[in-house]
Amino acid sequence: MPKGSLGNAEQFETIKCPLCACNEYGTVYQCYQETGYTLGRIQTSFVVCNDCGFMYQNPRPKVELLTRHYTENEEASGSIYHDVSPDSSHNKKQNARIAFYKKYFGEINKGSLLEIGCSTGGFLLNLDLGGWDLVGLEPSIKATSQARANGLEVICASLEQSDLPGKSYDAICCFSALEHFHDINIALDTMTRLLKPGGGLCVEVPDTMKPTPQIAEFFTFEHMSHFTKDTLALFLKGYGFDDIVFDDTVSDARLRIFTRKDGAVKPLCKAGIAAIDKNIMGVARQKLISEINKYTKGKRDIEKHIKERLASVILRWNRQGKKVAIYGAGAHTRYLLNLFDLSENVNAILDSDPKKHGKHFLRWTIFDESLLGSGQIDAVIISSKAFEDEIYERISKYSITQGVEIVRCYAQ
Ligand SMILES: [Zn+2]
Repeated sequence: MPKGSLGNAEQFETIKCPLCACNEYGTVYQCYQETGYTLGRIQTSFVVCNDCGFMYQNPRPKVELLTRHYTENEEASGSIYHDVSPDSSHNKKQNARIAFYKKYFGEINKGSLLEIGCSTGGFLLNLDLGGWDLVGLEPSIKATSQARANGLEVICASLEQSDLPGKSYDAICCFSALEHFHDINIALDTMTRLLKPGGGLCVEVPDTMKPTPQIAEFFTFEHMSHFTKDTLALFLKGYGFDDIVFDDTVSDARLRIFTRKDGAVKPLCKAGIAAIDKNIMGVARQKLISEINKYTKGKRDIEKHIKERLASVILRWNRQGKKVAIYGAGAHTRYLLNLFDLSENVNAILDSDPKKHGKHFLRWTIFDESLLGSGQIDAVIISSKAFEDEIYERISKYSITQGVEIVRCYAQ
């Protein structure tokens, strides 16, 4: 049972496999996770089903706990700020996504498109689909009001609360959201019900076969379901989506698919389960477990490497009395501070999210990166894996103009 600052086992629940209802599984990964202010530090556990090979969080946090996390915690993934300037990695990914789906939108009847979990509306705003009605569904009040201010029609509700009429959409999009649903079967059942016959379903989820080792956690406690190509296809087949196209051009750890609802929807999960070939799934299961083991070792090696490399730098900073800032007011920095005692060195936290400026992260004030140009900071640690290069490019000018020493965790 989970222990940690959130040690109450009553706040977690044990479940059967959401894909095949089998009750037998093996635990493949366990770790403590930094969840931010609302829930603190929790222990998480991930299992793989003995029958179908699906990986899921078990025991999982109860729904009340996750609702509190998403509504109260500014570090929750739905609240994360993204740089959307033309050269940003976020914008490039968005463009690749749009290019893939536009081909398929041309093949279905023009009509109504629903994006589940539309956040501030980046995808819908950039879609540029003439003749379509675009609607967003978003549980966060803040994100909804920003999307509406951008001129989008957005329903502020979760999918479970939304009570939308059945067979009303010609296309449904769900990006980086399916893995979060507390009950994946309710989510897929609702999406299937909302689609018109012949309607298109567009889904993106993390690819569990490509876990990226870093000091923050790839297998985040926010994700209940951890899909592979095989298990995502099985789930969708279970809801009557037989013909699934994967985007083979995706280069990072994600799966992007397009599929269509055919006329007759088959009974819940039956088709998917019938499609399981025990031998094939056994091989896939072993491959998944071996990837997770590689990830576990890779994560340990990276932590050791960063610890060794930064230890000598921090020692030197102490000797020289340098004033240090950390770039990144989020989970990655919590993990970084678990590796080192930087309390004597750090003077400020920097972040690109304007909403955070002036607020506090742990005991430090959060500033805009222009603080690096003020002469008050001698050195900065970039605390991010996904955005390390992007941040480095933006702030490297301060090493020339102010002599600020910039340290990266991952690149040498
Ligand atoms: Zn299963």
